[in-house]
Amino acid sequence: MTSSRTFSEHTTARVGGPAGQWVVGDSEAQILSVLQDHPLPADAEREAGRDSLLVLGGGSNLLVSDQGFAGTVLQVAVTGVTAEPVGEDGVLVTVAAGHPWDDVVAWTVERGLVGLEALSGIPGSTGATPVQNVGAYGAEVSQTLVDIRAWDRSSRELVVLNNEQLGFGYRDSLLKRSTIEGSPRYVVLSVRFRLTHAVGEPMSSPVRYGELARSLGLTAEMPEDERRAPLAQVRQTVLGLRAGKGMVLDPEDPDTWSTGSFFTNPIVAASKAASLPESAPRFPAGVDHDGTPLVKLSAAWLIDQAGCAKGFGAALTDGRASLSTKHTLAVTNRGGASTEDLLTVARAARDKVEAAFGIRLHPEPVLLGCSL
Ligand SMILES: Cc1cc2nc3c(=O)[nH]c(=O)nc-3n(C[C@H](O)[C@H](O)[C@H](O)COP(=O)(O)OP(=O)(O)OC[C@H]3O[C@@H](n4cnc5c(N)ncnc54)[C@H](O)[C@@H]3O)c2cc1C
Repeated sequence: MTSSRTFSEHTTARVGGPAGQWVVGDSEAQILSVLQDHPLPADAEREAGRDSLLVLGGGSNLLVSDQGFAGTVLQVAVTGVTAEPVGEDGVLVTVAAGHPWDDVVAWTVERGLVGLEALSGIPGSTGATPVQNVGAYGAEVSQTLVDIRAWDRSSRELVVLNNEQLGFGYRDSLLKRSTIEGSPRYVVLSVRFRLTHAVGEPMSSPVRYGELARSLGLTAEMPEDERRAPLAQVRQTVLGLRAGKGMVLDPEDPDTWSTGSFFTNPIVAASKAASLPESAPRFPAGVDHDGTPLVKLSAAWLIDQAGCAKGFGAALTDGRASLSTKHTLAVTNRGGASTEDLLTVARAARDKVEAAFGIRLHPEPVLLGCSL
């Protein structure tokens, strides 16, 4: 189906201008026919933002300029989930790229399949989850993802990329690294996960995230193997925690009209982290290429401590945009905001953090035709 549409109707932040052409790809054949017509432009063209194709799933991690995008938007909407046994207690779950992610999580939890439960309530499509290695509450899709089937717009063929080839990192993957100015090299068609079929009462994977563990009555002192809870309870608890932060989409609640977290949590040298107040949350994040120990900080904490409380930024945009009133990491549309309004709030928060702590925050969503 082809029609004219605007991004404000198709993104969770409810902003963005018109698209030149809009194709809803609800079959793989249709998606492939659009992709055949849109080979990957040369890098210089992509860097100049001149790709004529934009790939979109649920529009929950995308900020498009108020001018919109003159080319073709391919909305990946092909759905379907299948499962087959593998090994002693394994199940291989294959999901079409356009299938809503949270429906997949609910489907697996209902069937006693363990591995995705902590990723409940994240909006968007399954095909987008490997792009930024979607993660929450101590889990990331890279922990269970086996491989993806994708169209390579460069070699113009179908490829299978396994977990290792996807080179996952924190909110990062080969898919994201090979996207330039919103122009993707690989377009995901389906994703396979290896989950575990629980025997008896289905218990979750070990709960690694402190806040979730506490809500479930578990403690960090418990041996990892005992730090589990019934699968359905973990899903419900995650959904409850997320809703309290405005991180579950709710058409009635402007605190959820956002791209989720606007900034990634910064990873800095341990020496830099040591210069922050003791109360700053910090987590070990491995070492740099030259062996320097790294620490992951909380962007939400930095924003709050830099003087941007919940609701910050309304005064800058006549109330049209602000930080969420539930969570300082989400930049929200309070009704009638433009993309530029959201960027105004995000820039102010970023600049205040840099002035207070000398740490520059970087945006998590994909920005198209606009910059921070
Ligand atoms: C309220 C809220 C809460 C959120 N919470 C979380 C969270 O806890 N953790 C987290 O990691 N993220 C979170 N997000 C961000 C977002 O939901 C995820 O990144 C999600 O995976 C994006 O999926 P999408 O289909 O909406 O992608 P889109 O926004 O449509 O696209 C995002 C990027 O992926 C590309 N893309 C989309 N589909 C494909 C495909 N099939 N093949 C290749 N490229 C593709 C697009 O071109 C674009 O570059 C949240 C967002 C919101 C609004």
